[in-house]
Amino acid sequence: MAQTPPPESAPSTDSEPETALETARRQLQAAAEHVDIADGVIERLTHPTRVVQVSVPVERDDGTVTVYDGYRAQHDDVRGPYKGGLRYHPGVSAEECVGLSMWMTWKCAVMDLPFGGAKGGVVVDPKTLSADEHERLTRRFAAELRDEVGPSQDIPAPDMGTDAQTMAWFMDAYSMQQGETVPGVVTGKPPVAGGSHGRAEAPGRSVAIATREAINYYDIPIDDATVAVQGYGSVGANAALLLDDWGARVVAVSDVNGGVLDTDGLYTHAIPSHGNQPAAVMRHDAPNTLTNEELLELDVDVVIPAAVGNVITAANADRIQADIVVEGANGPTTSAADRILEERAVPVIPDILANAGGVTVSYFEWLQDINRRTWSPERVRDELESEMLSAWNSVRSEVDDGDLSWRDAAYVVALQRIGRAKEARGLWP
Ligand code: NAD
Repeated sequence: MAQTPPPESAPSTDSEPETALETARRQLQAAAEHVDIADGVIERLTHPTRVVQVSVPVERDDGTVTVYDGYRAQHDDVRGPYKGGLRYHPGVSAEECVGLSMWMTWKCAVMDLPFGGAKGGVVVDPKTLSADEHERLTRRFAAELRDEVGPSQDIPAPDMGTDAQTMAWFMDAYSMQQGETVPGVVTGKPPVAGGSHGRAEAPGRSVAIATREAINYYDIPIDDATVAVQGYGSVGANAALLLDDWGARVVAVSDVNGGVLDTDGLYTHAIPSHGNQPAAVMRHDAPNTLTNEELLELDVDVVIPAAVGNVITAANADRIQADIVVEGANGPTTSAADRILEERAVPVIPDILANAGGVTVSYFEWLQDINRRTWSPERVRDELESEMLSAWNSVRSEVDDGDLSWRDAAYVVALQRIGRAKEARGLWP
């Protein structure tokens, strides 16, 4: 199993589009200015602990063999086992995994979960794989990573191109090698195989909770609030449905093809989400349609980019008319756009807080697996609400006390927790 060297330090240019690693390192440097922790700690956090590269040979259905590259970046584990998703996507690279693993470290710390950060994946377009090939790829990838992962070492989860079934196969392959069932090696499994109730809707639920708290903070009654959601998938649709249920007016939603707009408010329950019918949003009967670019620039109280990264950039940040941006996707706002929005006093509720419901319910799943005890859907919902409010209040205190942006405040909360743990444990040897 080869160990690839960590990527070089962040480039000093401010080019767009920026990579996940560039964004993650810029955000770390920006927040470091507001935190009283040793420079050495920040320097260590700029680099991952390790990046593992593996080759994953798969027998195709026609009998030929294809060898795929797979990665697992483990960024930091000072507060607990590494935690983060596995993606199957043609754009996966060691560098991308490192950037995304850094976000997982901050996300777990801002939520005060006893986990560090990791991310991994295979360079493959999952649409080119049959279900059997997807299973064989997953089992072999799990076998190649068996020394790196484990319930107290590194706990993968689903991400782009992987799902609950992928996690069930991964868990099974790992368990077969261990000679016992080890459900806690991955999260995001189906509930029948050690998964948790409420895991699938959790990131969207946390986005809805963050939106509700943000509009409350800025004195916008939820019944008067207008919301636009880009991306009607797991995150976007669940957030839109809950906000609609709670009284907000969801005026626009979109998928990869574009969106629908009704200034009186859409009935979100009638719109098929990506999970039910991919790319079907525009088939919904609504007074108007719009492009994804137009949706981001709507004059609404809250815009929620919940599809892909790098959609709010230096090119359109000046035209964002929403009063608040809540990041549903990971990394939807580039650093340059962040600065423009800050100058324009448009608050951005960052991804590491807003969509952290996913990893939080993953933590609940891991607890249930280790304790061999299932939680009811109500308990999962209540505990998620309470964890989100606790994280929200910690970040809000930093915003109020330090005159910080929401992103810097979330990083300050995370970095203080990580920095204090690193200082207490010391640098070994
Ligand atoms: P998904 O595949 O369920 O849905 C994605 C949606 O975005 C679909 O409606 C798709 O049509 C749309 N879309 C794709 N490309 C688009 C584009 N270029 N412009 C506009 N719309 C586009 O994905 P998801 O799980 O909801 O994830 C969305 C984002 O949230 C990703 O950034 C993901 O990393 C992040 N996220 C997901 C989870 C999770 O557990 N699902 C947790 C945290 C963060």
